[in-house]
Amino acid sequence: MSNNNWLVKNLADFAGGMTRRGGREFLHLSEEIETDQIKATPENAGRASLYIHIPFCRTLCPFCCFNRYLFAEDKARSYFKSLKKEVALYKDRGFRFSSLYFGGGTPTILMDELGEFIAYLKENFAIKEISLETTHREINHRTIEQLKQAGINRLSIGVQSFDDAISKSMGRAWSTGQEAGEKLLMAEGQFDTVNADFIFNFPGQTLKQFEADVLAFKEMKLDQATFYPLMPSPHKMSALERRFKFVDTSHEKDFYDILLRELYDGDYRASTAWCFSRGERMIDEYVIEFDDYVGVGAGSVGFLEGNFYVNTFSLERYARLIDEGRLPVVRWKKLSERESRRYYLLTKLFGMALDPTQFERRFGADIHRKLGLELAFFKMFGLVQEDGLIRVTRRGMYPVSSMMKEFFAALNGLREYCIEHGI
Ligand code: SF4
Repeated sequence: MSNNNWLVKNLADFAGGMTRRGGREFLHLSEEIETDQIKATPENAGRASLYIHIPFCRTLCPFCCFNRYLFAEDKARSYFKSLKKEVALYKDRGFRFSSLYFGGGTPTILMDELGEFIAYLKENFAIKEISLETTHREINHRTIEQLKQAGINRLSIGVQSFDDAISKSMGRAWSTGQEAGEKLLMAEGQFDTVNADFIFNFPGQTLKQFEADVLAFKEMKLDQATFYPLMPSPHKMSALERRFKFVDTSHEKDFYDILLRELYDGDYRASTAWCFSRGERMIDEYVIEFDDYVGVGAGSVGFLEGNFYVNTFSLERYARLIDEGRLPVVRWKKLSERESRRYYLLTKLFGMALDPTQFERRFGADIHRKLGLELAFFKMFGLVQEDGLIRVTRRGMYPVSSMMKEFFAALNGLREYCIEHGI
């Protein structure tokens, strides 16, 4: 390993370790819920985005940490009814959403309910953009037409890998690389942005197999791909270790270097540390684009004016709370000023650039004064440079990726805890 590689890997370990510790504190949540704090203010009424969680899948991938249940039509239909009621509770509190993000689970699991729900949102709000995740199994000419009719701008398709052996070892034996490629090409050009999601550093996945995924993606000349490092919750990690005997995470940077070499140094620009796009495309992470977001649905999270909160993960409890006319929020955290500033720094660096003017507008203080130590660290090692904006350099991308991975891994730990404890 060259000196530079060694240094960047160690910087990433250090920055990731700091984020892991901070993430644990950040996610130390209270049962004292302050739902009266969830209200629109002149600042956030139209500014917050809306995340909608649809927690049903046709099969459950063993590595997945999201709140998801095996699809049952009756449960899914009544869930969509509850979702409308939850959105109405936010409308009553003064929120005016214009940007929607559907995640899951599989949001396209019941296309008629999805279409009706989007129509309901459009009746109630002036919707400008809609991003939606699904898997390639759901894609066909009919669903593409329905999604276009519904006004989806950005379609994100969870491929994970084109390699059939890897798909099988991920518990996705239904997925073949050939079918995934065909479905991506079917969707390409039909929406403002089509994104393909991949995983890297999955147990058993070789650098060669991952490189083949990246090259195949390039060959297809698709708009955008997002590459997620493996970031399992503690129990998912133990399950992977039992299944694969040994989970080697020491090569993560080698996987990441393939992205830098093949995409970043090529025709693609980094929209985030994990998302590579050609031209101006919508990106995958509403947490970067929007400082405030509301989450609806079982197992979603929200972030409003420095308050982080979590909805119940249980379908039954979710339906019950909604029927009682209450927000289904079950955990809460008021972030300290310092935590808010650091969270802001993390999300903006993950999005590749931070605007000090916007920081000052949000926190009423100069970033160089409030996060001087953190910025000095990043600058000293050439991980960021400042030219009006604070931009992540090529060298800084892997450390930033590690930081975000640790934060999401901590969030996955929280999800796991909530699911296992019926919260
Ligand atoms: S990876 Fe996607 S399809 Fe698989 S269980 Fe998770 S949400 Fe469902």
